[in-house]
Amino acid sequence: MSHLPIISQQELDRQSEIMSRVAALNEHKHPLAFVDTYGCQQNEADSEKLRGMLSRMGYRFTDDEHSADIIVINTCAVREHAEHRILGNVGALTHTKRAKPGQKIVLCGCMVQQKHMAERIKRSFPIVDLVFGPHEMYRFPELIEQMIQPHKGRIFAVRDTQGEYVEGLPSLRQGRVKAWLTVMYGCNNFCSYCVVPLVRGRERSRTPDKVLEEARRLVDEGYKDITLLGQNVNSYGRDLDSDWDFSRLIESINSIPGDFVIRFMTSHPKDASERLFKTIADCEKAAKHIHLPFQSGSSRVLSAMNRHYTRESYLALVELAREIMPQISLTSDVIVGFPSETEEDFEETLSLVERVRFDMLFTFIYSPRAGTPAEKMPDPVSREEKQLRFDRLLEIHNAISAENQASHIGKTERVLIDGVSSAAAGNLTGRTSENRLVYLSGPRELVGSFKNVKITDSNTWSLTGSII
Ligand code: SF4
Repeated sequence: MSHLPIISQQELDRQSEIMSRVAALNEHKHPLAFVDTYGCQQNEADSEKLRGMLSRMGYRFTDDEHSADIIVINTCAVREHAEHRILGNVGALTHTKRAKPGQKIVLCGCMVQQKHMAERIKRSFPIVDLVFGPHEMYRFPELIEQMIQPHKGRIFAVRDTQGEYVEGLPSLRQGRVKAWLTVMYGCNNFCSYCVVPLVRGRERSRTPDKVLEEARRLVDEGYKDITLLGQNVNSYGRDLDSDWDFSRLIESINSIPGDFVIRFMTSHPKDASERLFKTIADCEKAAKHIHLPFQSGSSRVLSAMNRHYTRESYLALVELAREIMPQISLTSDVIVGFPSETEEDFEETLSLVERVRFDMLFTFIYSPRAGTPAEKMPDPVSREEKQLRFDRLLEIHNAISAENQASHIGKTERVLIDGVSSAAAGNLTGRTSENRLVYLSGPRELVGSFKNVKITDSNTWSLTGSII
């Protein structure tokens, strides 16, 4: 076990008692909560816990902020643009709150863990009643109880910490087919552009018994698509004094009886290994898909990003993955316009994209984040130039993606039908093992089942098929 503190059972019992007290207060009121989530899957998983606790405190849920008694906004800090959007939406709640006196507004998550942001909210957004960082989530019941007391002032609970272990918070999951399963929290990597280690603390792996217990429960409850979550899942177990690693975790979940798919994200290339690829190949329930962010095709930029791999080692890793699993689908993240990225560096990114031919690419223009080393690096390239590079990259990738998708026409794929859609291509959506989105038609009752689907058409981002 790592040397970071564990939140005691006694403390969790105390929070549980508070939930019962708040539920008693809410008994005849049936107050409504609106939970809005920005950012990554980890935030989605955190919001499920917030909903779990709100439900235990007697709240019901609404999608309409006007009728909500409490609005909880779970924020993201990864990009400046997202922060601006969140602040704009919080500002707009002034009218909502005016129309519904007594409405409470809560801000939590990564954005508010940054000191300057918490201070800005204190100063400029008096409508916000409660602010708390990701490390305070287990204290949500206590903070809610304080907030709903009459004449209680605004509450700011943001604490500097490396993070703690918390187990056993209730969770109210959103869907019935797909489930997030957090296997570790935090990150130790300190990529020079990234704020995550500053706001989410050091790596903390959940113990395998807790992860497996939750995985078994999800399978028993009928979930068919389980995504293991962590900032860098490949380093799972390193902080546990045991011989568990991520591959062993996948093998153990794979051996749980039942028909389901195991996915995971995110993998850091410096920690992805032959052992991991062989495990994915050997485990029939493991999706044949890896999201492996490369971020830049230039070794010089990768070094400035503190990524601990080179262009060559990344390409060698891709080659190894494809040697072990020729059908593997590869997706990635890339940053355009990192400080000091030259035209030559950018062309290396383009050539890497042309060489690997990713199935999907999440492309971002560099966004400076307060407190990170990259924020202080000289950045002479104009925003216009970065946008031009971004557009060039997108054009090349979109053509590749369309060709990759078209190569599946005529094939039969095993598809998990995971939702309904209003798209012209079909009233149902599904995912192949390689995580390709498929539109198809059929009765809604098929949601949650696996079907063989003949692929009949494609575009840049999706396939269309019919059940056979
Ligand atoms: S691996 Fe790098 S980019 Fe990913 S969360 Fe950690 S520091 Fe951020």
